[in-house]
Amino acid sequence: MAKRTLGYIEIDQERCKGCGLCIDACPVNVIKFSESFNSKGYHPAEYIGEGCIACMFCYYMCPDVCITVYKYKQPVVTK
Ligand code: SF4
Ligand code: SF4
Repeated sequence: MAKRTLGYIEIDQERCKGCGLCIDACPVNVIKFSESFNSKGYHPAEYIGEGCIACMFCYYMCPDVCITVYKYKQPVVTK
């Protein structure tokens, strides 16, 4: 089934403390923990690269304001 991507997010990897709240909040499961560590020793959250619907739930959930959400003017459709 084709996947519609309506935007994307950027996560400040150094500020992220790996609490996972954004991962739980994302309704389309497009955020995961990175396999690498940041300088504080946390596994930061990262965007998987497609499928974001720009709902901003992650933005509002993050206690450290690490996430910026961008919305495309046109949806990107991928297989
Ligand atoms: S904006 Fe919404 S869909 Fe996109 S990563 Fe955040 S919670 Fe998920
Ligand atoms: S909610 Fe914020 S601090 Fe927590 S894992 Fe997500 S980006 Fe990192």
